[in-house]
Amino acid sequence: MMRLDKCLSHLGYGSRKDVKKIIRSGEVSINGIVCKKEDTKFDENKDELMIQGVEIVYQKFVYIMLNKPQGVISATEDGLHETVLNCIQDTTKGLFPVGRLDIDTEGLCLITNDGQLAHELLSPKKHVDKTYYVEISNPLTKEALQEIEKGITIDGDEKCKPAKVKQLDDHAIELTITEGKFHQVKRMMIACQSEVTYLKRISMGNLKLDEELELGQWRYLTDVELENLR
Ligand code: URA
Repeated sequence: MMRLDKCLSHLGYGSRKDVKKIIRSGEVSINGIVCKKEDTKFDENKDELMIQGVEIVYQKFVYIMLNKPQGVISATEDGLHETVLNCIQDTTKGLFPVGRLDIDTEGLCLITNDGQLAHELLSPKKHVDKTYYVEISNPLTKEALQEIEKGITIDGDEKCKPAKVKQLDDHAIELTITEGKFHQVKRMMIACQSEVTYLKRISMGNLKLDEELELGQWRYLTDVELENLR
């Protein structure tokens, strides 16, 4: 069962406020009966929903967090390796990982079939924070830390946006970046004359990796996690 306003909002009819207007205007019917109450609950899998005279087939969105282990590819298909989809038991069609983690990177991997949310999280314009726990071969110098915070140049000519860095010890930092350049964290560390020896994503926007999840384990996001992510 699902609330009517939540369903319309998921379907892209606007915010809860916008859909309330549509519902109150009498343009929505359930099983042929006009429904003007936004908090009406209906069975999205059985009841017939019509909006402005058009029947709507509701596709349920699924949101999963996986603690990605090493050796698994952030893709939907791979001829050689296991993919993140092989790690989960939900077989909903159209699931894909939001963004990419390298094969040897662990941690938070969001898997969904909600293209709009994925687009919003990945859009360079939105600058969604991604925080990594990073172990490194050589300690970072003061100058390197400053460069990272100002916006470090990688590969000689590619400038990164300012990032936040928290030094945990000589060989471990927490790094928060707002972009998703190819191998970005590894290339940032190389630009600092160091090298990543272990990489784990611990958060993405407001979504934090559930520390209870062992490597390779997954669970659905809670409603609160989902609301906070939007
Ligand atoms: N940066 C990297 O270098 N690798 C990842 O997997 C993610 C960010």
